[in-house]
Amino acid sequence: MADPQGFMKYSRSDAPKRPKPERLQDWNEVYLHEEPAERNKAVRTQATRCMDCGIPFCHSGTAGCPLGNLIPEWNDLVRRGDWELASDRLHATNNFPEFTGRLCPAPCEAACVLSISHDAGGAVAIKRVEETIADMSWENGYVQPAQATVSSGKRVAVVGSGPAGLAAAQQLTRAGHEVVVYERDDRLGGLLRYGIPEFKMEKKVLDRRLSQLRREGTKFVTGCEVGVDITVEQLRAEFDAVVLAVGALRGRDDKTTPGRELKGVHLAMDHLVPANRAVEGDGPSAISAEGKHVIVIGGGDTGADCYGTATRQGALSVTQLDQYPMPPSVRDDDRSPWPVWPHILRTYPAHEEAGERRFTVAVRRFVGDDDGHVRFIELQQVRVEKDSSGRRSVVPLSDEVEMLPADMVLLAIGFEGVQHMRLLDDLGISLSQRGTISCGSDWQTSAPGVFVCGDAHRGASLVVWAIAEGRSVANAVDSFLTGSSNLPSPVIPN
Ligand code: SF4
Repeated sequence: MADPQGFMKYSRSDAPKRPKPERLQDWNEVYLHEEPAERNKAVRTQATRCMDCGIPFCHSGTAGCPLGNLIPEWNDLVRRGDWELASDRLHATNNFPEFTGRLCPAPCEAACVLSISHDAGGAVAIKRVEETIADMSWENGYVQPAQATVSSGKRVAVVGSGPAGLAAAQQLTRAGHEVVVYERDDRLGGLLRYGIPEFKMEKKVLDRRLSQLRREGTKFVTGCEVGVDITVEQLRAEFDAVVLAVGALRGRDDKTTPGRELKGVHLAMDHLVPANRAVEGDGPSAISAEGKHVIVIGGGDTGADCYGTATRQGALSVTQLDQYPMPPSVRDDDRSPWPVWPHILRTYPAHEEAGERRFTVAVRRFVGDDDGHVRFIELQQVRVEKDSSGRRSVVPLSDEVEMLPADMVLLAIGFEGVQHMRLLDDLGISLSQRGTISCGSDWQTSAPGVFVCGDAHRGASLVVWAIAEGRSVANAVDSFLTGSSNLPSPVIPN
């Protein structure tokens, strides 16, 4: 039984961060590695703020956790200090809580009833509780390989080793199928490896989970592009089912702003991938912000990752631009009593460290030097308007322009869907208008026996949705192979 008045006794407190000057000297996670006893005491207090609502919005529904995380249950277990059972209940719905605890923008916190009123002191710090349970689970050996007790004799190929592919692979391996994960990169993890900077999640967190999957029996093949290094015919001959978890990494480009072709104007991932490779020890990044005036266009997660990366690379200045206004605080928004975060712009730790954010602005022109390298941007004040059909347009507020120095421009304006790959052509799968792979209610694509999950199906989305879709596709594949399944299926295809 939770403490119904805990939120009145204790105020919300987020995980403490390392001092800014210290964290800018390295690539490690920004959060302080607290002494476990001190950390656990603080987190138990935070868990005590959960009053275990009768119908908790945090844990399900359209606004809450897509995984159906049993949030009030493990909050209460943490409050009582039963970390082992809390770990058990957390892992019952989430294969990788250490990923979501670090990377998810926490729709559960936006949905928490305590976020409705300032007087309640803000949402329960669910992310902090989740991450601490996950880390405690590893520290105390609660996480062990879960070996399958039966073998189905069926073989499944998973294409892609991001969070959706890994979740599907772990569920299917544990259900007794022989699972091989194919990754075209040289290391496993997909976006978790080369898209997410180390300061958000250290790669040792990923590696220890991969080690668990290996010990459970999942097999991995790296440096293998399915459709090229292994043909679709071989895939069909060797496997009973295929799961496509290939992501949606086609970056949206700015094809209309004059000067886009100048040297120094890059898509965000062209900056992040080599930077993350450099941290892995692959040598200096080919695209570095060191000694440069950097402009990041786009106010989302990827933009914040570029921002923090450029700062650590030694940029002279970093400025992030957004066409939208600085978001009103949830409490200032009197159009609705419900919290709108995380669907509005957020502040990330990277923004506290250095640099500047500019709102209601757009680039009118990239200006280059005689060598064809970008040196300035022309900036205009704008507002974003929507017409009656919902189409958005960016309208300049005047002809006035401002010149900002810019030696490097990073376009972090979203993703347009799945990258072109021969595999899809050979399977006869065409992309939807959104650039994603469509499927039926059983997650099966237009190619029989071929399933899809994660960003490849949903479009670029949250890590928690990738894991939820990975778990759900595992249920569908298990049913396809054996006629029924006891695996959970937290979400349905959109
Ligand atoms: Fe606890 Fe908030 Fe969930 Fe209610 S909505 S059960 S207070 S975390």
